[in-house]
Amino acid sequence: MTLLPASSNSFEKLPLSPAAQDNLRRLGYLEMTAIQAASLPPALQGRDLIAQAKTGSGKTAAFALALLAKLDARSFAVQALVLCPTRELADQVTMEIRRLARAEDNIKVVALSGGVPLRGQTASLERGAHVVVGTPGRLMDHLDRGHLKLDSLATLVLDEADRMLDMGFVDDIKKIARQCPAQRQTLLFSATYPEGIAKLAAQFLRDPVTVKVETRHDKGQIEQRWYEVREDQRLPAVARLLEHFRPASTLAFCNTKARCRALAEMLQAQGYSALALHGELEQRDRDQVLVRFANGSCSILVATDVAARGLDVAGLAAVINVDISPDPEAHVHRIGRTGRAGETGLALSLSSMDEMGAVGRIEQLQGHASVWYPLADLTPTPGERLLPAMTTVHIQAGRKDKIRPGDVLGALTADLGYTREQVGKIDINEFATYVAVGRDIAHEVVRRLNEGRIKGRSVKARLLKD
Ligand code: ADP
Ligand code: MG
Repeated sequence: MTLLPASSNSFEKLPLSPAAQDNLRRLGYLEMTAIQAASLPPALQGRDLIAQAKTGSGKTAAFALALLAKLDARSFAVQALVLCPTRELADQVTMEIRRLARAEDNIKVVALSGGVPLRGQTASLERGAHVVVGTPGRLMDHLDRGHLKLDSLATLVLDEADRMLDMGFVDDIKKIARQCPAQRQTLLFSATYPEGIAKLAAQFLRDPVTVKVETRHDKGQIEQRWYEVREDQRLPAVARLLEHFRPASTLAFCNTKARCRALAEMLQAQGYSALALHGELEQRDRDQVLVRFANGSCSILVATDVAARGLDVAGLAAVINVDISPDPEAHVHRIGRTGRAGETGLALSLSSMDEMGAVGRIEQLQGHASVWYPLADLTPTPGERLLPAMTTVHIQAGRKDKIRPGDVLGALTADLGYTREQVGKIDINEFATYVAVGRDIAHEVVRRLNEGRIKGRSVKARLLKD
């Protein structure tokens, strides 16, 4: 157990009700996060706020505690409205507000997002809602139809304001804000602070306090993004992720061999440099796959957890969870392959409704909620497939033939005149040598090796085809 230092950011410093304090302890919220410590004191005083902190820093509780502290549970009027960019985020925010509201009886939090019928939402509103969380489009619908009244609103929250701007919600936000009473508190939260945010803030906020928590760059980080997919969308979604993020190297995890094969075949058919690694490969094929991924001549490795065991490849740009592992420890292990050594890694996970139980176990283990993004946000990058710069030449001679890396490098640079930069990693096993060379010179290298000699003897070389 660690003792908290006296100067810790305990929630007890805040003017919250004893019941709310108690609930925070039960939720395991002992210390405020940095953004909470910076934003809660002014927010609880009723000030308008512009708060910026990275994803996962606890922004939801920062505004939720502020808006809940002002609620009058006996009045059945909408007193707080939270605007979110997507349904997934609105649902997460709704759940977090409900958790934090448990201390008070009967606080009704209603989610109003697109993608679900209006009717159920209208019924919830009729039963009375204290807090409404929703996406701008759907909120406009309810406002236009007169289902939603904002004349008793005390708090307006713009969550993920940067993403709402990106998604073109500015006009909707303006219209909604105009229907709120002028006498209100407005809280704006954002992960980044693009120029548009200042303009937006200038229109809706009154004398706001700005709080900002700098992102730390000291250690490797992993950015996790979750996407909900239907089964038939799963494999195509992998290609969309690759096109959108264009990672230089990707390890894609599947739960079964069959899925590995299907995905690798689909990606290859689409012109990607992808290989599958699964338990059914013969040793020689397995070695080749590992060599090609490690030497940078294959950019996507599709693997099962078992097959990837012991795989040690540094600096992976991305890990994709094509399926969600039923074992939460395995998930954490999977994504730990990216984001090493001071670099930010990307962990992208595709989950169907059937896997949400596994997602829940992962959230419990990681101690934070998943951040969901819509598949529709993935935009294809026009142009060529991103092929690796290197490709692998297979030379049929290995340790048995007393070949050493220096011999191969010497043949390529001293004898054939290539530069050190054109030659990559050299792997030698008993009977074979694999050398990564620049894609542009690969055919010529193979021809010249077959015509020439290594260590005084002629060798057979060929390209491993992508
Ligand atoms: P953000 O909106 O900044 O991306 P969230 O509000 O979604 O972050 O919070 C991320 C996670 O941290 C959530 O799972 C939340 O329950 C948890 N969390 C928030 N505040 C605290 C706290 N003070 N102590 C422990 N966990 C917290
Ligand atoms: Mg958030």
